[in-house]
Amino acid sequence: MKKSNIINAIYYQMKPLIPRRFQIWIRSKIALQKYRSHSNSWPIMENAAKPPNGWPGWPNHKQFALVLTHDVETALGQKKCYQLIDIEKQLGFRSSFNFVPERYEVSSKLRENLEHQGFEVGVHGLKHDGKLFTSQKTFLERAEKINIYLKTWGAKGFRSPAMHHDLNWLHHLNIVYDSSTFDTDPFQPQPDGVETIFPFSVVATASLKKYIELPTTLPQDFVLFILLKEVKIDTWKTKLAWIYKNAGMALLNTHPDYMNFGTVKGGLEEYPVQYYVDFLHYVKTKYGGQYWHALPKEAASFIKNNNSI
Ligand SMILES: [Zn+2]
Repeated sequence: MKKSNIINAIYYQMKPLIPRRFQIWIRSKIALQKYRSHSNSWPIMENAAKPPNGWPGWPNHKQFALVLTHDVETALGQKKCYQLIDIEKQLGFRSSFNFVPERYEVSSKLRENLEHQGFEVGVHGLKHDGKLFTSQKTFLERAEKINIYLKTWGAKGFRSPAMHHDLNWLHHLNIVYDSSTFDTDPFQPQPDGVETIFPFSVVATASLKKYIELPTTLPQDFVLFILLKEVKIDTWKTKLAWIYKNAGMALLNTHPDYMNFGTVKGGLEEYPVQYYVDFLHYVKTKYGGQYWHALPKEAASFIKNNNSI
């Protein structure tokens, strides 16, 4: 095992016992180390640009796809959702919001509001306690409950907490798509990337059950602004230019929890929402008319209904 992976493994075992401030400090140190050692594979991994066989291109002959998603980690994050929705709506964007069913009380009013306004609701784990993938038994027990929430909420998609994933086990969820992977992201606790900036089908060998995998392809806000302490959106711009060039899917996951809307002093784990606003403005100004802006469920059904892939 590599030194960085050993540190990672120890860290995640000890995590519940470590004060949050120290957790961030140590994760920041590890992230900076990885930043230096992965400069040739992050944020850009060149071989992730190859389109799948039979790739038809994006709808309406657009050059690339833009998919915006959010994971809502806590009740505090949930409270910030309305402000975030307003920002996106004003700029003409729509996104999906993934909620944790059994960590805080998920507001049915907010869910209905999102659906009503043309946004999307997804499921983000079950409890967000880091245990979903600890054993197949645990996963199967929890999958039953997750399936109930998927059905009750009318949700089509799933994202796993901390991007833990096992693409075979995910067949036990009644989903149209999963989005718990990434093309390249050495900063995640389970850092195995799928090395593609295109969606792909995942078919079960025995049952032939199928779902679509939508890898995230732009670095997460937490990594850039909290761990690496970046104060500009240059990394997003660089990666977006490369995705544009290679006609891939720009899929971003940001968290309202970490966004500071300027109403109170920013906490240790917050960054100014202006960074995200800057990104939306930038996409619109620089690439207006050239991208297919889709909700994740729309991107997934485009792939699902396309027989050539
Ligand atoms: Zn999460």
